[in-house]
Amino acid sequence: MYLMRLGPVGSEKPVVRLDEQHYVDVSDTVPDFDETFFGGDGLARLGPLVAERTAAGSVQSFAGERVGAPIARPHQILCIGLNYADHAAETGMDLPTEPILFTKSPNTLVGPHDDVRLPRGSTKVDWEVELGVVIGRRASYLETEAEAREAVAGFVVVNDVSERAFQTERGGQWSKGKSAETFNPAGPWLVTPDEIDDVLDLDMWLDVSGVRRQTGSTKTMVFDPYFIVRYLSQFMVLEPGDLINTGTPPGVGMGLRPPVWLQAGDVMELGIEGLGTQRQVVVAPR
Ligand code: ZN
Repeated sequence: MYLMRLGPVGSEKPVVRLDEQHYVDVSDTVPDFDETFFGGDGLARLGPLVAERTAAGSVQSFAGERVGAPIARPHQILCIGLNYADHAAETGMDLPTEPILFTKSPNTLVGPHDDVRLPRGSTKVDWEVELGVVIGRRASYLETEAEAREAVAGFVVVNDVSERAFQTERGGQWSKGKSAETFNPAGPWLVTPDEIDDVLDLDMWLDVSGVRRQTGSTKTMVFDPYFIVRYLSQFMVLEPGDLINTGTPPGVGMGLRPPVWLQAGDVMELGIEGLGTQRQVVVAPR
């Protein structure tokens, strides 16, 4: 299934995408794609509901509605750093022996085509196309990869927008450079695992104002999504609806010589094979 949320900021309605033109509105039955939905048996009940409505012809056509992030604001957004061998090389940092974890404020989550706003005082804003993992059930001390698979609701494209000066030149941890408002576009869809042949063989790309900057594949991930879920569950409780950004392939602005940073007016276009595409306009600080 392809879960989406359509409508104005703050009042998105949950729908299930059938194809490029059509969706089934489930908002009368499902309040939102949130912790309650994923933590209950929401996904299991959604399939039959959508099948029934499709058979009954209860199908809508997309009509230019805003596309929101496909999940409600999560309890936490967790990020894995330097998780692509070829990206670690371009940053000049060593390949980690254990996943590098940092957090991102949950209120950074925005829709896939919303504006990305430069923070005040920023000089080094950068892009990162990533595979996002959405947690489907409460997960603590998972022991096997099979348990981790059962704990994943689905996958989503994310742009882990980053302010490199805030991240690396202002002391302490990376979170300062990751948590500005609008810094986590997600979507357009939450794709359930049954729709994806091999999550470790997906092409990914990102263009800035028409120039291809990132080209990669989930093939070069150091730690795969299920390893990451099991690993993180040893340190914290993962809640239904939580989002994990699993790292970016090469081609970020910081890795270019000389570096390239986003400016107001730039357009980011990005995508992952099978998971849809995003487009954001970069806008000036408010
Ligand atoms: Zn990242």
